[in-house]
Amino acid sequence: DLEEPLENEVYEELTPLLESIDKQNKEKEAIANMRKEFSANVSHELKTPLTSISGYAEIMKSGIVKPEDMPRFSEKIYNEARRLITLVEDIIKLSHLDEGKVELERQDVDFYELTREIISRLSPQASAKKVHMELTGESVIYNGVRQILDEMVYNICENAIKYNKEGGEIRVWVGNTLNGKKIIVTDTGIGIPKEQQERIFERFYRVDKSHSKEIGGTGLGLSIVKHGAILHNAKIHVDSELGKGTRMELTF
Ligand code: ADP
Repeated sequence: DLEEPLENEVYEELTPLLESIDKQNKEKEAIANMRKEFSANVSHELKTPLTSISGYAEIMKSGIVKPEDMPRFSEKIYNEARRLITLVEDIIKLSHLDEGKVELERQDVDFYELTREIISRLSPQASAKKVHMELTGESVIYNGVRQILDEMVYNICENAIKYNKEGGEIRVWVGNTLNGKKIIVTDTGIGIPKEQQERIFERFYRVDKSHSKEIGGTGLGLSIVKHGAILHNAKIHVDSELGKGTRMELTF
């Protein structure tokens, strides 16, 4: 008679443990799969510009290019090389974040100051597109890893310019709310289709590859934002309407 409750007890104790092992295994598997997919993508993304650089260089070397075409060809090589540099830099940033290698020294950061500085760094890009950027709100002090917070806000603001229309608007708001410290970036750009709003945070994911091709990018910017958010226990909320614009909200 004594055995039955004991068995039940053991069962009750073991079940959640077994379930958690099962869950851990599944998570490990998912991470391993993501790594594999990432390596395959990296190889592909590196190979494309390298193939084109080597192709143009070979033609120039052969002597069949007319002198007046030389600047055009060298510009192509230059642009592809720039793209490679950005890509490699982003990959290194992500792998450091992955391995937890980033200097995790936290310090008090004023989101308002940080954002103001980022907007000023981005102003040449914004002017080139006649995009107007406006910052409102208040000083918000947050204890975090400055370099990563900078990259997160920079990537979101840069996207708000890149995927905006000529002469578009960007409104950035920084403030303290009952739900947390917030940075909200709203643009009047091309928007993101509902069904793809989750996927834009995946590595190398770009909405409509052919369209995005004209707009420079690696598809890694928002993955860096996501990793930074995980590190800081922050939430990202996307609200977007195709053809109207996008609102990105970071809550710390
Ligand atoms: P990318 O280097 O392509 O800009 P990101 O990871 O920063 O990479 O963004 C992934 C994709 O999400 C972009 O290619 C773009 O299609 C879409 N996207 C990101 N931000 C915006 C935005 N503000 N408006 C419209 N589309 C956006």
